[in-house]
Amino acid sequence: MYLKTLTIKGFKSFASATTLRLEPGITCVVGPNGSGKSNVVDALSWVMGEQGAKSLRGGKMEDVIFAGTAGRPPLGRAEVALTIDNSDGALPIDYTEVTISRTLFRNGGSEYAINGDSCRLLDIQELLSDSGIGREMHVIVGQGQLDAVLSADAEARRGFIEEAAGVLKHRKRKEKALRKLEAMQSNLTRVSDLITELR
Ligand code: ATP
Repeated sequence: MYLKTLTIKGFKSFASATTLRLEPGITCVVGPNGSGKSNVVDALSWVMGEQGAKSLRGGKMEDVIFAGTAGRPPLGRAEVALTIDNSDGALPIDYTEVTISRTLFRNGGSEYAINGDSCRLLDIQELLSDSGIGREMHVIVGQGQLDAVLSADAEARRGFIEEAAGVLKHRKRKEKALRKLEAMQSNLTRVSDLITELR
């Protein structure tokens, strides 16, 4: 499995559609300060489901939409599509090539798709979660993050290992199930109170 192409349109400084073709192995993005190198990495984490505006170096999620320049008006939507080569079947989906895409509209609406079919954010997160890439982005080490990884406490370090091992997905599902159980328990208590009142 390797990242094959990344198409960015209306995302941060990329007003026009830009496609980066990647090869297996190491890819280096080089360019002058402020030319958009980190925006490429932000686009990558965003399309994989990043939800934190701060992790994308913005104040709110709409900040990822091209805000305009002196010569170009702002755009109404940001779109990023990532094509992953899945010939080795590392992603649990029956396609040798998988394209995940994410669109954000300025009014706050969002769209996600896997190979052109609309899906939920959760579907993208689950698809990627066992592959070692995904929302928690431990394969994407941004500027300054290396220090954070090296100085992480035991709990955080365990989180990195759990994501790499694919345990995180099950932990999240367990947390969700426990929350449902808790809600169910309080409903049961409410029902039993009502029964007592009616007796
Ligand atoms: P450095 O080497 O200094 O870290 P870089 O190449 O990583 O720089 P980025 O941080 O990726 O650069 O890009 C910064 C540029 O992106 C700035 O010029 C900023 O104005 C522009 N930018 C960020 N968000 C938006 C947006 N929503 N709309 C338009 N331009 C944006």
